[in-house]
Amino acid sequence: MGLIKDMEKLVVGNTEIEYEVTVSGRAQRIRITINGDKVKVTKPKGANDKEVKDFVEAKKEWIFNHWQEFKSLKVKQEEKKFVAGEKFPYLGYEYMLRIIAINNKKATVELKSNILWVFLPDNLSEEEWPLRVKEALLAWYKNEARQVFTDKLEVWSKRMGVRYNQLRIKEQKTRWGSCSGKGNINLNWRVIMAPKSVIDYLIVHELAHLKQMNHSKEFWQLVKNNLFDYERQRKWLREEGKKLPFAN
Ligand SMILES: [Zn+2]
Repeated sequence: MGLIKDMEKLVVGNTEIEYEVTVSGRAQRIRITINGDKVKVTKPKGANDKEVKDFVEAKKEWIFNHWQEFKSLKVKQEEKKFVAGEKFPYLGYEYMLRIIAINNKKATVELKSNILWVFLPDNLSEEEWPLRVKEALLAWYKNEARQVFTDKLEVWSKRMGVRYNQLRIKEQKTRWGSCSGKGNINLNWRVIMAPKSVIDYLIVHELAHLKQMNHSKEFWQLVKNNLFDYERQRKWLREEGKKLPFAN
């Protein structure tokens, strides 16, 4: 229940962070909440402006860090143009794109010497390049995804003592993976761009569903038994996953 609202500014280095001050009859002490990039300070009726300012000042590092964290999340995934010099992620590393026209009917992709090479048929006009590069990269990523995921499923299913039916490579906007009642594992090919540890987490997660078809405490314990620090990988997927290219 906010009664009086007031906008104030906190200066940290050369960053200005606006915060809203609300007086609450129920508040026992000054409280700071950060929701997205909105910083709110709630103060009890008796607290004066100076007390609030001092309190916020004392917490400024904490405020800045949380606020900054959100800001960086909001950084929109840049639109790829599929031109030479651009960088594309693969297993957690970024590789620079190089395009070469060769006497070949098919476009091919190769990752070599830290460069992502795209070889295009030399009968294409340069205007056609970006679209053909995009198609070639998509095909390459999906193929890599199938190979890497298959290998990892082999290893993890043995380790976890489960049997899966079939791997299906999916392209979904909002899902990274799923497990069907028939024991099929569906994985989003875009995860091939994430670090290996993140792929491991996703695979362990889906394989764990073969034992626990839910997200119960037992399920998460099972995941943890196999991947002690799975929470870091889960967080990565949640926060960094949306920044991976080919999201639209
Ligand atoms: Zn799940």
